[in-house]
Amino acid sequence: MAEVRVERLHRSFGQFTAVGDLSFTIADGEFVFFLGPSGCGKTTTLRMIAGLLMPTSGRIELGGRNVTFLKPRYRNVGMVFQSNVLYHHLSVYENLAYPLKVRGWSAADIRRKVHEVAELLQITGVLHRGTEGLSGGQAQRVAIGRMLVRDADVFLMDEPISHLDAKLRAHMRAELRHLQKELGRTTLFVSHDQLEAMSMADRIAVMNGGELLQLAPPQEVFDRPANAFVAGFVGEPQMNILEVTLDDGQLQAAGFTATAPSGWLAQHRIAPGPMRLGIRPEHVETAPAPLPGGFAARLEAMEPMGAENLMTFDLGGQPFKVRQTTGQSDDFAPGDTVHLRPRPDHLYLFDLASGRTLAQAAFTDRSRA
Ligand code: ATP
Repeated sequence: MAEVRVERLHRSFGQFTAVGDLSFTIADGEFVFFLGPSGCGKTTTLRMIAGLLMPTSGRIELGGRNVTFLKPRYRNVGMVFQSNVLYHHLSVYENLAYPLKVRGWSAADIRRKVHEVAELLQITGVLHRGTEGLSGGQAQRVAIGRMLVRDADVFLMDEPISHLDAKLRAHMRAELRHLQKELGRTTLFVSHDQLEAMSMADRIAVMNGGELLQLAPPQEVFDRPANAFVAGFVGEPQMNILEVTLDDGQLQAAGFTATAPSGWLAQHRIAPGPMRLGIRPEHVETAPAPLPGGFAARLEAMEPMGAENLMTFDLGGQPFKVRQTTGQSDDFAPGDTVHLRPRPDHLYLFDLASGRTLAQAAFTDRSRA
Protein backbone atom coordinates (compact mmCIF):
# COMPACT_ATOMS: atom_id res chain seq x y z
CA MET A 1 0.00 0.00 0.00
CA ALA A 2 1.24 3.47 -0.72
CA GLU A 3 0.69 7.18 -0.85
CA VAL A 4 0.79 8.73 -4.33
CA ARG A 5 2.48 12.11 -4.54
CA VAL A 6 2.75 14.11 -7.73
CA GLU A 7 4.66 17.38 -7.94
CA ARG A 8 4.47 19.83 -10.83
CA LEU A 9 3.90 17.01 -13.28
CA HIS A 10 3.94 18.22 -16.86
CA ARG A 11 3.59 16.50 -20.23
CA SER A 12 3.64 18.14 -23.64
CA PHE A 13 3.27 16.64 -27.08
CA GLY A 14 5.17 19.09 -29.32
CA GLN A 15 3.68 22.53 -28.65
CA PHE A 16 0.60 21.04 -27.01
CA THR A 17 0.37 20.79 -23.21
CA ALA A 18 -1.69 17.70 -22.32
CA VAL A 19 -0.97 17.96 -18.57
CA GLY A 20 0.37 21.16 -17.05
CA ASP A 21 1.96 21.46 -13.62
CA LEU A 22 -0.17 18.97 -11.76
CA SER A 23 0.43 18.62 -8.00
CA PHE A 24 -1.53 16.45 -5.58
CA THR A 25 -1.16 13.88 -2.83
CA ILE A 26 -3.38 10.82 -2.54
CA ALA A 27 -3.36 9.14 0.85
CA ASP A 28 -2.59 5.48 1.44
CA GLY A 29 -5.77 3.46 0.80
CA GLU A 30 -7.72 6.31 -0.76
CA PHE A 31 -10.07 5.86 -3.74
CA VAL A 32 -9.68 8.92 -5.97
CA PHE A 33 -11.49 9.57 -9.24
CA PHE A 34 -10.02 11.67 -12.04
CA LEU A 35 -13.03 13.26 -13.64
CA GLY A 36 -13.23 15.60 -16.60
CA PRO A 37 -14.29 15.97 -20.22
CA SER A 38 -12.66 14.07 -23.07
CA GLY A 39 -9.10 15.27 -23.73
CA CYS A 40 -8.57 16.96 -20.35
CA GLY A 41 -5.47 14.89 -19.54
CA LYS A 42 -6.84 12.15 -17.26
CA THR A 43 -5.37 9.21 -19.16
CA THR A 44 -2.07 11.00 -19.73
CA THR A 45 -1.78 11.55 -15.96
CA LEU A 46 -2.55 7.90 -15.21
CA ARG A 47 -0.11 6.65 -17.85
CA MET A 48 2.67 8.75 -16.33
CA ILE A 49 1.95 7.33 -12.87
CA ALA A 50 1.94 3.84 -14.38
CA GLY A 51 5.28 4.46 -16.10
CA LEU A 52 3.85 3.91 -19.59
CA LEU A 53 4.57 7.52 -20.53
CA MET A 54 7.49 9.66 -19.37
CA PRO A 55 6.74 13.16 -18.04
CA THR A 56 8.26 16.22 -19.70
CA SER A 57 9.02 17.43 -16.18
CA GLY A 58 7.89 16.95 -12.59
CA ARG A 59 8.13 14.24 -10.01
CA ILE A 60 6.11 11.14 -9.07
CA GLU A 61 6.50 9.40 -5.72
CA LEU A 62 4.82 6.13 -4.80
CA GLY A 63 5.08 5.19 -1.15
CA GLY A 64 7.76 7.83 -0.63
CA ARG A 65 9.93 6.43 -3.47
CA ASN A 66 10.81 8.60 -6.44
CA VAL A 67 9.61 6.56 -9.44
CA THR A 68 9.39 9.40 -11.98
CA PHE A 69 11.53 7.74 -14.63
CA LEU A 70 11.29 4.08 -13.58
CA LYS A 71 9.89 1.45 -15.92
CA PRO A 72 6.38 0.15 -15.04
CA ARG A 73 7.64 -3.16 -13.67
CA TYR A 74 9.74 -1.39 -11.03
CA ARG A 75 6.78 0.61 -9.69
CA ASN A 76 4.53 -2.17 -8.41
CA VAL A 77 1.35 -0.66 -9.80
CA GLY A 78 -1.58 -2.69 -11.12
CA MET A 79 -3.50 -1.41 -14.11
CA VAL A 80 -6.80 -2.07 -15.81
CA PHE A 81 -8.03 -0.24 -18.87
CA GLN A 82 -11.24 0.15 -20.81
CA SER A 83 -10.28 -2.30 -23.49
CA ASN A 84 -8.28 -5.01 -21.84
CA VAL A 85 -6.79 -7.63 -24.03
CA LEU A 86 -7.20 -11.07 -22.53
CA TYR A 87 -5.02 -13.84 -23.92
CA HIS A 88 -7.59 -15.76 -25.91
CA HIS A 89 -5.43 -18.85 -26.38
CA LEU A 90 -5.30 -19.23 -22.59
CA SER A 91 -8.03 -20.21 -20.11
CA VAL A 92 -9.34 -17.78 -17.50
CA TYR A 93 -7.12 -19.53 -14.93
CA GLU A 94 -4.05 -19.13 -17.14
CA ASN A 95 -4.87 -15.49 -17.80
CA LEU A 96 -4.88 -14.85 -14.05
CA ALA A 97 -1.80 -16.97 -13.47
CA TYR A 98 0.30 -15.37 -16.21
CA PRO A 99 1.42 -12.20 -14.36
CA LEU A 100 2.58 -14.41 -11.47
CA LYS A 101 4.32 -16.94 -13.72
CA VAL A 102 6.46 -14.25 -15.33
CA ARG A 103 7.41 -13.07 -11.84
CA GLY A 104 8.64 -16.55 -10.99
CA TRP A 105 5.99 -17.55 -8.43
CA SER A 106 5.82 -21.26 -7.52
CA ALA A 107 2.93 -23.34 -8.93
CA ALA A 108 1.42 -23.81 -5.45
CA ASP A 109 1.50 -20.07 -4.67
CA ILE A 110 -0.01 -19.27 -8.05
CA ARG A 111 -2.84 -21.76 -7.50
CA ARG A 112 -3.61 -20.31 -4.07
CA LYS A 113 -3.57 -16.70 -5.27
CA VAL A 114 -5.61 -17.30 -8.42
CA HIS A 115 -8.32 -19.11 -6.43
CA GLU A 116 -8.36 -16.36 -3.80
CA VAL A 117 -8.86 -13.62 -6.42
CA ALA A 118 -11.36 -15.70 -8.44
CA GLU A 119 -13.44 -16.12 -5.32
CA LEU A 120 -13.31 -12.42 -4.56
CA LEU A 121 -14.53 -11.63 -8.08
CA GLN A 122 -16.98 -14.53 -8.22
CA ILE A 123 -15.46 -16.10 -11.32
CA THR A 124 -14.43 -19.45 -9.80
CA GLY A 125 -17.08 -21.14 -11.97
CA VAL A 126 -15.44 -20.03 -15.22
CA LEU A 127 -11.79 -20.51 -14.22
CA HIS A 128 -11.21 -23.42 -16.55
CA ARG A 129 -13.10 -22.02 -19.51
CA GLY A 130 -11.59 -20.21 -22.47
CA THR A 131 -12.03 -16.43 -22.54
CA GLU A 132 -13.90 -16.23 -25.88
CA GLY A 133 -17.36 -17.05 -24.56
CA LEU A 134 -17.23 -14.82 -21.48
CA SER A 135 -19.87 -12.11 -21.02
CA GLY A 136 -18.68 -8.49 -20.98
CA GLY A 137 -18.92 -8.41 -17.19
CA GLN A 138 -17.03 -11.67 -16.75
CA ALA A 139 -14.26 -10.61 -19.15
CA GLN A 140 -13.88 -7.33 -17.28
CA ARG A 141 -13.69 -9.20 -13.99
CA VAL A 142 -10.90 -11.36 -15.39
CA ALA A 143 -9.04 -8.19 -16.42
CA ILE A 144 -9.53 -6.76 -12.93
CA GLY A 145 -8.43 -10.11 -11.52
CA ARG A 146 -5.19 -9.91 -13.48
CA MET A 147 -4.54 -6.62 -11.75
CA LEU A 148 -5.47 -7.95 -8.31
CA VAL A 149 -3.33 -11.11 -8.32
CA ARG A 150 -0.19 -9.03 -8.36
CA ASP A 151 -0.68 -7.50 -4.93
CA ALA A 152 0.33 -4.11 -6.29
CA ASP A 153 0.77 -1.11 -3.99
CA VAL A 154 -1.40 1.11 -6.16
CA PHE A 155 -4.26 0.30 -8.54
CA LEU A 156 -4.77 2.40 -11.66
CA MET A 157 -8.08 2.01 -13.52
CA ASP A 158 -8.89 3.83 -16.74
CA GLU A 159 -12.63 3.71 -17.48
CA PRO A 160 -12.70 -0.02 -16.74
CA ILE A 161 -16.48 -0.37 -16.82
CA SER A 162 -17.61 2.38 -19.19
CA HIS A 163 -18.35 0.06 -22.12
CA LEU A 164 -20.62 -2.27 -20.10
CA ASP A 165 -24.39 -1.88 -20.33
CA ALA A 166 -26.09 0.35 -17.75
CA LYS A 167 -27.32 -2.42 -15.45
CA LEU A 168 -24.03 -4.28 -15.35
CA ARG A 169 -22.16 -1.01 -14.89
CA ALA A 170 -24.27 -0.17 -11.83
CA HIS A 171 -23.56 -3.63 -10.45
CA MET A 172 -19.82 -3.36 -11.13
CA ARG A 173 -19.71 0.10 -9.53
CA ALA A 174 -20.97 -1.32 -6.26
CA GLU A 175 -18.65 -4.30 -6.55
CA LEU A 176 -15.55 -2.24 -7.27
CA ARG A 177 -16.33 0.13 -4.44
CA HIS A 178 -16.71 -2.78 -2.05
CA LEU A 179 -13.55 -4.47 -3.34
CA GLN A 180 -11.50 -1.30 -3.01
CA LYS A 181 -12.59 -0.85 0.60
CA GLU A 182 -11.96 -4.49 1.39
CA LEU A 183 -8.46 -4.48 -0.10
CA GLY A 184 -7.68 -0.97 1.12
CA ARG A 185 -5.38 -0.24 -1.84
CA THR A 186 -4.71 3.27 -3.02
CA THR A 187 -6.74 3.46 -6.24
CA LEU A 188 -6.78 6.07 -9.01
CA PHE A 189 -9.78 5.71 -11.29
CA VAL A 190 -10.27 7.67 -14.52
CA SER A 191 -13.83 8.46 -15.55
CA HIS A 192 -15.81 11.03 -17.47
CA ASP A 193 -19.00 9.92 -15.74
CA GLN A 194 -19.77 12.20 -12.82
CA LEU A 195 -22.41 9.87 -11.38
CA GLU A 196 -19.83 7.09 -11.24
CA ALA A 197 -17.39 9.40 -9.50
CA MET A 198 -19.99 10.78 -7.07
CA SER A 199 -21.12 7.32 -6.02
CA MET A 200 -17.74 5.62 -5.69
CA ALA A 201 -14.99 8.08 -4.82
CA ASP A 202 -13.46 9.11 -1.52
CA ARG A 203 -12.30 12.22 -3.35
CA ILE A 204 -12.74 13.53 -6.88
CA ALA A 205 -10.01 15.28 -8.86
CA VAL A 206 -11.81 17.43 -11.43
CA MET A 207 -9.61 18.22 -14.44
CA ASN A 208 -9.99 20.46 -17.45
CA GLY A 209 -7.48 21.52 -20.10
CA GLY A 210 -4.64 19.60 -18.42
CA GLU A 211 -5.20 21.35 -15.09
CA LEU A 212 -6.46 20.10 -11.75
CA LEU A 213 -9.35 22.37 -10.77
CA GLN A 214 -10.40 20.77 -7.48
CA LEU A 215 -9.58 17.72 -5.40
CA ALA A 216 -12.19 17.14 -2.70
CA PRO A 217 -14.80 14.67 -1.42
CA PRO A 218 -17.81 14.27 -3.78
CA GLN A 219 -20.27 16.20 -1.63
CA GLU A 220 -17.84 19.07 -1.25
CA VAL A 221 -17.25 19.23 -5.00
CA PHE A 222 -21.03 19.39 -5.42
CA ASP A 223 -21.74 21.87 -2.61
CA ARG A 224 -18.61 24.01 -2.84
CA PRO A 225 -17.32 23.88 -6.41
CA ALA A 226 -14.03 25.76 -6.83
CA ASN A 227 -15.21 27.46 -10.00
CA ALA A 228 -17.96 27.65 -12.61
CA PHE A 229 -16.50 24.78 -14.65
CA VAL A 230 -16.64 22.34 -11.72
CA ALA A 231 -20.11 23.64 -10.80
CA GLY A 232 -21.35 22.98 -14.33
CA PHE A 233 -19.64 19.61 -14.70
CA VAL A 234 -20.89 18.00 -11.49
CA GLY A 235 -24.67 17.71 -11.18
CA GLU A 236 -27.31 16.27 -13.48
CA PRO A 237 -28.91 18.18 -15.11
CA GLN A 238 -26.13 20.68 -14.88
CA MET A 239 -26.25 23.94 -12.96
CA ASN A 240 -27.75 26.92 -14.81
CA ILE A 241 -25.04 29.57 -15.15
CA LEU A 242 -26.12 33.05 -16.23
CA GLU A 243 -24.27 36.30 -16.81
CA VAL A 244 -25.88 38.83 -14.48
CA THR A 245 -25.30 42.24 -12.97
CA LEU A 246 -25.52 42.81 -9.24
CA ASP A 247 -27.16 46.12 -8.44
CA ASP A 248 -28.70 47.07 -5.11
CA GLY A 249 -28.95 43.45 -3.93
CA GLN A 250 -30.65 42.34 -7.15
CA LEU A 251 -29.00 39.94 -9.58
CA GLN A 252 -30.35 40.81 -12.98
CA ALA A 253 -30.18 39.81 -16.63
CA ALA A 254 -32.61 40.24 -19.53
CA GLY A 255 -35.92 38.73 -18.40
CA PHE A 256 -34.41 37.54 -15.13
CA THR A 257 -34.13 38.72 -11.58
CA ALA A 258 -33.11 37.10 -8.28
CA THR A 259 -32.72 38.58 -4.84
CA ALA A 260 -29.57 37.65 -2.98
CA PRO A 261 -29.64 37.76 0.84
CA SER A 262 -27.88 41.02 1.76
CA GLY A 263 -26.06 39.44 4.72
CA TRP A 264 -24.65 36.81 2.39
CA LEU A 265 -23.38 39.40 -0.10
CA ALA A 266 -21.77 41.37 2.72
CA GLN A 267 -20.22 38.25 4.26
CA HIS A 268 -18.52 37.39 0.97
CA ARG A 269 -17.74 41.07 0.22
CA ILE A 270 -19.46 40.94 -3.16
CA ALA A 271 -19.25 44.31 -4.90
CA PRO A 272 -21.91 45.41 -7.41
CA GLY A 273 -21.11 44.73 -11.08
CA PRO A 274 -21.17 41.97 -13.67
CA MET A 275 -20.63 38.36 -12.58
CA ARG A 276 -21.89 34.84 -13.23
CA LEU A 277 -24.75 33.40 -11.23
CA GLY A 278 -25.22 29.66 -10.71
CA ILE A 279 -28.54 28.05 -9.84
CA ARG A 280 -29.03 24.30 -9.66
CA PRO A 281 -32.23 23.12 -11.43
CA GLU A 282 -33.57 21.66 -8.17
CA HIS A 283 -33.35 25.01 -6.37
CA VAL A 284 -36.09 26.93 -8.19
CA GLU A 285 -39.68 27.42 -7.08
CA THR A 286 -42.45 27.46 -9.71
CA ALA A 287 -45.96 28.94 -9.54
CA PRO A 288 -48.78 29.87 -11.94
CA ALA A 289 -49.00 33.37 -10.38
CA PRO A 290 -46.21 35.96 -9.82
CA LEU A 291 -43.80 35.24 -6.97
CA PRO A 292 -42.33 38.24 -5.08
CA GLY A 293 -38.69 38.62 -6.13
CA GLY A 294 -39.21 36.15 -8.98
CA PHE A 295 -39.56 36.34 -12.75
CA ALA A 296 -41.67 34.85 -15.54
CA ALA A 297 -40.45 32.56 -18.34
CA ARG A 298 -41.94 30.54 -21.14
CA LEU A 299 -41.90 26.76 -20.69
CA GLU A 300 -40.33 25.19 -23.77
CA ALA A 301 -40.23 21.51 -22.84
CA MET A 302 -41.53 19.28 -20.09
CA GLU A 303 -39.89 15.89 -19.54
CA PRO A 304 -41.59 13.66 -16.97
CA MET A 305 -38.96 11.41 -15.38
CA GLY A 306 -41.06 9.37 -13.00
CA ALA A 307 -40.45 10.87 -9.59
CA GLU A 308 -39.53 14.24 -11.09
CA ASN A 309 -40.33 16.59 -13.93
CA LEU A 310 -37.52 18.26 -15.85
CA MET A 311 -38.59 21.57 -17.37
CA THR A 312 -36.71 23.69 -19.87
CA PHE A 313 -37.53 27.40 -19.98
CA ASP A 314 -36.45 30.02 -22.47
CA LEU A 315 -34.52 32.77 -20.75
CA GLY A 316 -33.58 35.44 -23.27
CA GLY A 317 -32.72 32.72 -25.80
CA GLN A 318 -30.81 30.59 -23.26
CA PRO A 319 -32.20 27.33 -21.86
CA PHE A 320 -32.91 27.42 -18.12
CA LYS A 321 -33.52 24.05 -16.47
CA VAL A 322 -35.78 23.41 -13.50
CA ARG A 323 -36.27 20.06 -11.81
CA GLN A 324 -39.18 19.44 -9.51
CA THR A 325 -40.75 16.56 -7.68
CA THR A 326 -43.77 15.21 -9.54
CA GLY A 327 -46.92 16.81 -8.17
CA GLN A 328 -45.50 20.33 -7.84
CA SER A 329 -45.45 21.15 -11.53
CA ASP A 330 -47.67 18.62 -13.32
CA ASP A 331 -50.19 21.19 -14.54
CA PHE A 332 -47.71 23.18 -16.63
CA ALA A 333 -47.49 22.55 -20.38
CA PRO A 334 -45.09 23.76 -23.07
CA GLY A 335 -46.05 27.27 -24.17
CA ASP A 336 -47.21 28.30 -20.67
CA THR A 337 -45.77 31.32 -18.93
CA VAL A 338 -44.59 30.11 -15.54
CA HIS A 339 -43.41 32.18 -12.58
CA LEU A 340 -40.05 31.16 -11.18
CA ARG A 341 -38.05 32.11 -8.12
CA PRO A 342 -34.57 30.77 -7.34
CA ARG A 343 -34.13 29.82 -3.68
CA PRO A 344 -32.04 32.68 -2.30
CA ASP A 345 -30.14 30.38 0.07
CA HIS A 346 -28.87 28.25 -2.83
CA LEU A 347 -27.21 30.73 -5.14
CA TYR A 348 -23.63 30.61 -6.40
CA LEU A 349 -21.63 33.58 -7.66
CA PHE A 350 -18.63 33.23 -9.94
CA ASP A 351 -16.12 35.77 -11.19
CA LEU A 352 -17.10 36.84 -14.69
CA ALA A 353 -13.66 36.48 -16.27
CA SER A 354 -11.94 33.68 -14.35
CA GLY A 355 -15.01 31.69 -13.25
CA ARG A 356 -13.60 31.44 -9.71
CA THR A 357 -16.26 30.93 -7.04
CA LEU A 358 -16.92 34.19 -5.20
CA ALA A 359 -19.71 32.93 -2.95
CA GLN A 360 -21.64 29.72 -2.67
CA ALA A 361 -24.96 28.56 -1.36
CA ALA A 362 -25.46 30.26 1.97
CA PHE A 363 -26.73 27.07 3.58
CA THR A 364 -24.58 24.16 2.57
CA ASP A 365 -25.53 22.32 5.74
CA ARG A 366 -27.58 19.50 4.17
CA SER A 367 -29.94 19.20 7.09
CA ARG A 368 -31.19 22.70 6.25
CA ALA A 369 -31.12 22.25 2.46
P1 ATP B 1 -10.55 10.72 -22.80
O1 ATP B 1 -11.59 10.73 -21.73
O2 ATP B 1 -11.09 11.08 -24.15
O3 ATP B 1 -9.68 9.52 -22.80
P2 ATP B 1 -8.45 12.16 -21.40
O4 ATP B 1 -8.86 13.20 -20.44
O5 ATP B 1 -8.03 10.86 -20.86
O6 ATP B 1 -9.59 11.98 -22.48
P3 ATP B 1 -5.85 12.25 -22.58
O7 ATP B 1 -5.96 10.94 -23.29
O8 ATP B 1 -5.02 12.31 -21.39
O9 ATP B 1 -7.30 12.80 -22.27
O10 ATP B 1 -5.34 13.31 -23.65
C1 ATP B 1 -5.09 14.67 -23.30
C2 ATP B 1 -4.73 15.43 -24.54
O11 ATP B 1 -3.44 15.01 -24.99
C3 ATP B 1 -5.68 15.18 -25.70
O12 ATP B 1 -5.90 16.42 -26.38
C4 ATP B 1 -4.93 14.21 -26.59
O13 ATP B 1 -5.28 14.39 -27.94
C5 ATP B 1 -3.48 14.59 -26.32
N1 ATP B 1 -2.59 13.43 -26.50
C6 ATP B 1 -2.59 12.31 -25.75
N2 ATP B 1 -1.64 11.44 -26.17
C7 ATP B 1 -1.04 12.03 -27.22
C8 ATP B 1 0.04 11.65 -28.10
N3 ATP B 1 0.66 10.49 -27.97
N4 ATP B 1 0.40 12.53 -29.06
C9 ATP B 1 -0.23 13.72 -29.19
N5 ATP B 1 -1.23 14.14 -28.41
C10 ATP B 1 -1.64 13.32 -27.43
